[in-house]
Amino acid sequence: ETFRIKPVIDILAQQFTLKTDKPVSFQIVCEPEELTIYADKLHFTNVISNMLDNSIKYSGKSVQISIQINQIEKGTQIDLTDNGIGIPTVQLNRIFERFYRVPKGNIHDVKGFGLGLSYVKDIIERHNGTISVESKEKEGTTFTIIIPEKK
Ligand code: ATP
Ligand code: MG
Repeated sequence: ETFRIKPVIDILAQQFTLKTDKPVSFQIVCEPEELTIYADKLHFTNVISNMLDNSIKYSGKSVQISIQINQIEKGTQIDLTDNGIGIPTVQLNRIFERFYRVPKGNIHDVKGFGLGLSYVKDIIERHNGTISVESKEKEGTTFTIIIPEKK
């Protein structure tokens, strides 16, 4: 279906802020504000939810998440940036694999199955979209999703 993207993300941000014990601050910018996408709404919501779960899990005591949604020539681009622990460059191309988790030299063990991002990638590809990632250890991570316009 076709739906407005900003309200969906606003609600998720609110829910995560409430259910997380860390302080989380969101900056959400959508241009244009009324931007709509054609996607499976439930799956799309799950995708963003998985990404937010990661951004909060893989970060320190206080979390800053910036989500920028833009209309581009090809469709819709969503950039999600966090100030988390980052992902080492050697591991970057593996994080979308099923069951893959970055090995930790860290005593704070964060639970997970390594399935979230493989689901995310699968859903994005079913919408003929793409997902890419840039990251710097100890600084943060940016995921970029592009979902093409309805044909
Ligand atoms: P699950 O999502 O199944 O609960 P998970 O979070 O470990 O488990 P994915 O969401 O697939 O699995 O992520 C794979 C791995 O990528 C994570 O284990 C983590 O090492 C790394 N990762 C994912 N997102 C981030 C992020 N925002 N910042 C730092 N590392 C991340
Ligand atoms: Mg996850």
